[in-house]
Amino acid sequence: MVAPVARRPLVVGNWKMNGSRAGNAALLAALKSEVGDTADVAVCVPAPYLGEVGAALAGSAIRWGAQDCSAHASGAFTGEISAAMLAEFGCSYVIVGHSERRAMHGEGDHLVADKAAAALDSGLVPIVCVGETLAEREAGKTHAVVARQLAAAIDVLGERMSSVVVAYEPVWAIGTGKTASPEEAQAVHAHLRATLVAAASSGADNRILYGGSVKADNAAQLFAQADIDGGLIGGASLKAADFGAICRAAR
Ligand code: PEP
Repeated sequence: MVAPVARRPLVVGNWKMNGSRAGNAALLAALKSEVGDTADVAVCVPAPYLGEVGAALAGSAIRWGAQDCSAHASGAFTGEISAAMLAEFGCSYVIVGHSERRAMHGEGDHLVADKAAAALDSGLVPIVCVGETLAEREAGKTHAVVARQLAAAIDVLGERMSSVVVAYEPVWAIGTGKTASPEEAQAVHAHLRATLVAAASSGADNRILYGGSVKADNAAQLFAQADIDGGLIGGASLKAADFGAICRAAR
């Protein structure tokens, strides 16, 4: 079982489907000098690059991971990548249930929970994403939606939930330039933590990240909130100077 990690800040870059072998090498070389030591830092990269990214980051403080994994251990699942394969490439983390996968690949709460379980089985820390759409927010359903998404993971993982990182990513804020205000984000994070505590799954110690258009100029205010333990960063993780500034804002 993966040991629970106390709430040291964590900043994770989600490269999404971006990169090239030459571009990655340049980005990682720059990142190594940009990233400070006030937070744990990782980059979740497209699977074909894991070997080279691992080699480039070995010996540095930056960890690496993937953006999805299969809920299955092995077998006839064409195109899928198992958590054990990711572990073989030295991954520490895997994102599961990103809203782009929920929306574009029809992934539901229970499949996401099963993926998180598969990740833990292979010694990876799953980053379980939750978040509401704009329509759900406008209908006043934000807390109910994220609690439902989290409940599926709690149901499947039980006490192993204490080894999970949760990422609150309002769908309307991802890649749009719109960010939840620090107060809006804090309210949802507090609700998520209370849900975890109520489920007796060590929510007091779970790291809960905020994601959605985090930039160098808004990161510090978001990360200063009581229940925000760092960020999941998309677009801004592709620029070393911006990602470095965001990492240094987490303390
Ligand atoms: C993400 O993809 O998880 C994300 C938060 O993207 P962005 O920072 O670009 O909004």
